[in-house]
Amino acid sequence: MRDFHVHSNYSDGEFLRSMVRAAESAGLEGVGVADHCNVATREHHASMRSVYGFNLDLTYERRRRGIDRLREEFDLAIYDAVEMDYDLRDEAAIETFLAEAGFDYAIGSVHDIGGRNVQVSSNFSAMSEAERDAVVDDYFDQLVALVESELFEIAAHVDLLERTPPLRGRATDDHYRRVAQAFAESRTIPEINAGRALSDAGIVHPSDRLLSLLREYDVAVTVGTDSHQPTEIPNRVDFLAEFVAETGLEPVSPDGLER
Ligand SMILES: [Zn+2]
Ligand SMILES: [Zn+2]
Repeated sequence: MRDFHVHSNYSDGEFLRSMVRAAESAGLEGVGVADHCNVATREHHASMRSVYGFNLDLTYERRRRGIDRLREEFDLAIYDAVEMDYDLRDEAAIETFLAEAGFDYAIGSVHDIGGRNVQVSSNFSAMSEAERDAVVDDYFDQLVALVESELFEIAAHVDLLERTPPLRGRATDDHYRRVAQAFAESRTIPEINAGRALSDAGIVHPSDRLLSLLREYDVAVTVGTDSHQPTEIPNRVDFLAEFVAETGLEPVSPDGLER
């Protein structure tokens, strides 16, 4: 089993070396280090980058030297990957950056709608029902655009809104069908994301309703634990192994990745 989505201290995770060591201890044959990266030039994003220090666009070459070194030390495949923030307005900047950086593969994520992180409940709790529905519509427009852009091998946590109580349960079958249809026609594949699977909420992305539509459209999937701490890896790996066994899914590698 391989895990195509973990973070390191090149964004908001623990030390790169600790993450790789935990992946090896968990018995993984491969681990993909997919640190957050945002290349939007709008002021909001530029200031968020300086506040949070997610600067893989500036540090990927240093991280690559680290990964090369760890490849000699550890007995598993280590993939040099990225989790890019996607926004339709940034397509040209993302395309230029990905071509220049040459990662093993790229994960695309919609994290923000209208400058608000969709994982943060307080961003939406004061909104009216209609405003929340508009956020959900915007989210799926962005997600479909991400898939249609063909910029990414993987799309992360495709029903991320389900994490967020004010936005949860608002996606319609029409939203989900548009997503499934877009994946069916794209090289981009969704991941089974275990980032919240073992939390109180017990959420797997995509949830049953979307997952069954993706299967109806014959969309392949990959897997990621979305771990940020070494201790998260083994339990989430076990969870994903059981999940794919129970559901009969056969996860695949990202497009173009040699094993
Ligand atoms: Zn993410
Ligand atoms: Zn992530």
